[in-house]
Amino acid sequence: ESQASDLIGQLDWDKTDGLIPAIVQNHLTGKVLMLGYMDKAALDVTLSSKKVTFYSRSKQRLWTKGETSGNTLDLVAIDKDCDNDSLLIQVIPNGPTCHKGTESCWKDGKVHSFIDNLQTLIASRKGQDPESSYTAHLFERGTKRIAQKVGEEGLETALAAATNDKPELIDEASDLIYHLLVLLEDQELSMQDINLNLMNRHNKSK
Ligand code: AMP
Ligand code: ZN
Ligand code: ZN
Ligand code: ZN
Repeated sequence: ESQASDLIGQLDWDKTDGLIPAIVQNHLTGKVLMLGYMDKAALDVTLSSKKVTFYSRSKQRLWTKGETSGNTLDLVAIDKDCDNDSLLIQVIPNGPTCHKGTESCWKDGKVHSFIDNLQTLIASRKGQDPESSYTAHLFERGTKRIAQKVGEEGLETALAAATNDKPELIDEASDLIYHLLVLLEDQELSMQDINLNLMNRHNKSK
C-alpha cells in the first residue's frame, strides 16, 4: 500500500493536468498492446485490484479494461519514465486487447529486435546470386551444408567458452546464431517458432 501511494506521489500530475499516459505492454512478448490515460484514482484502483484501469476521456469515468468484453489486463509491473510523466505497464492480457478483436491496437505492436531484422534480410537472400552474397551461397549449397556449419560453429562456441576466451566466444556465438537463423529459414522456420516454443515451456513450468 505504501509502495502504491509512493508511485502516485512521485508522478508529475500537475504537468499532465492529472492524466498520465500509460503504455501497456505484454510482459512475456514485449508487444505493445494499447495506450490509455490514468488519473490518480485509476492508478490507485489498478494497483489495488491488479486489473488495469484507466480514466476514459470519452466515458468521463474510471474504466477497467475488459469490464464488458472480459478481455482484462492483469497487472504485472508498473514503471514510471525518466521525468515522471508517463507509465509503462507490464501485463498478462486475458484475450485480445483491442476492441476490434486484435491482440494489439497497432497492426504490429512489436518492437523489432536486430535479430528480427537480420532474419528478414536472410530470408530475402533466398534464391539470390550466390556470387554476391554468402547467405545466398549457403542456401544454394543446401540443408546439409548449412546444418554442418551450425555444428561447426556450435563446437567453436563451446571451445571458446571452455578456453575462457570472451572475445572469441562473442564471435563464435554470433557465427552460431547467424548460421542457425539461416538453417531455420532453410527449413521454413523462424526465430518466432523458437520463441513460441520457449514461451510454451515457460508457461508449463510455472
Ligand atoms: P472493454 O473494456 O474491453 O470491456 O471494452 C469496452 C469499451 O471500451 C469498448 O467498446 C471500446 O469502446 C473501449 N475499448 C476497449 N478496448 C479498447 C482499446 N484497446 N482502446 C480503446 N478503446 C477500447
Ligand atoms: Zn516523460
Ligand atoms: Zn484498439
Ligand atoms: Zn566460427
